Amino acid sequence: MPVLISSREDRRRVSTQPQTFQMTQYSQLNPAERILMGPGPSSVSNRVLKALASPTLGHLDPQYVQIMDETCALLREVFQTQNKMTFPVSGTGMAGMETLAVNLLEPGDEALVCVNGAFGGRMKDVMERCGAIVHTVESAWGEIITDEAAAEAIAAHPKAKLFAIVHAETSTGAHQPLINISKSAHDAGMLFLVDSVTSLGGHELQVDEWGIDAIYSGTQKNLSCPPGLSPVSFSDRALEVIEERKTKVKSWYLDVSMLRDYYMGNASGGRAYHHTAPINMTYALREALIMVREEGLENRIARHAEMHQRLRGGLEAMGLKYVPSHSLHNLNCVYIPDGTEDAAVRSRLLAEYDIEIGAGLGPMAGKAWRIGIMGHACTKRNVDLVLAALKEVL
Ligand code: PLP
Repeated sequence: MPVLISSREDRRRVSTQPQTFQMTQYSQLNPAERILMGPGPSSVSNRVLKALASPTLGHLDPQYVQIMDETCALLREVFQTQNKMTFPVSGTGMAGMETLAVNLLEPGDEALVCVNGAFGGRMKDVMERCGAIVHTVESAWGEIITDEAAAEAIAAHPKAKLFAIVHAETSTGAHQPLINISKSAHDAGMLFLVDSVTSLGGHELQVDEWGIDAIYSGTQKNLSCPPGLSPVSFSDRALEVIEERKTKVKSWYLDVSMLRDYYMGNASGGRAYHHTAPINMTYALREALIMVREEGLENRIARHAEMHQRLRGGLEAMGLKYVPSHSLHNLNCVYIPDGTEDAAVRSRLLAEYDIEIGAGLGPMAGKAWRIGIMGHACTKRNVDLVLAALKEVL
């Protein structure tokens, strides 16, 4: 018998049932309106959801081309860059990571990658799959990479073509300073690559000012757009490196020299078909970016900082301790108190309050919670609600 999910009560009952697969009637799809306060995705506004539901255009329709151009222009604003080659890769944040790696690395190239959490580890893996010889700069999960450790590694591996680092390590909540490391990498002639999946639109990030040569992000964190696109940006210097490649980019789908003819236009100004762009996701991203513009990027960043102080005050008053010494504002990673059942607490928050918080990743599994206050979900109401709910459940 199919389970009909018709009331709030039913949704709670179904959502808390163990892994048994429940057949729903397709017409009954009715997801709960959760308050998404985990590591992402974050809650999406009705305005963005409405944009997503607008009529689908063709990917070469002049109207759509204009929508895409506007989306790229809005992305330049949020990345704070003049880079022409700034566009949303079709795919989630991992597609952005792979886009940078496959285009900038050739087999046998050396790369320096910082690993102090899950996503630095993924960068290493992705770059090794490109045939690169990857040297790591490591620190403990929860710690940042110091300027000194980065400078030492750069001196030890002067032949590295690029230096890659995660700005906001979502697995630990650590907020990585970038400016001095960028300078050291450039002084050694390396490209400086940054993962900004969790920082874009919620933390200060200045691509041009900070000398970032290539960067990727995601839509589902501080931009509060559903997951599905990965904004990327390449400096002219990075594009020159791509042009000088001796070997073909291993991925056809993510080859920037081919994507350029669609996103930026070819020599005659036309748009060449490469793959069918995710039309409705572009509408959603454009709307989400317009909302950032309306709020003002600086105000948005300040809102995340203010809500972090409010949340942090409440969590610490409950005796919870932060994992990282340099905490992100939008992702608050705290140790689970001794004797507390991780899954039971998260399940109760979901079932009783419709609040999702994140579990720990990798070595942090069972030891930490990750509480996100990202974009549309970063409000006084949500901060106070999650604090009250946690207090009650604990
Ligand atoms: N990098 C970081 C820092 C992330 O937090 C994530 C996802 O949470 C990713 C990369 C991968 O993004 P996605 O899951 O959207 O593919």
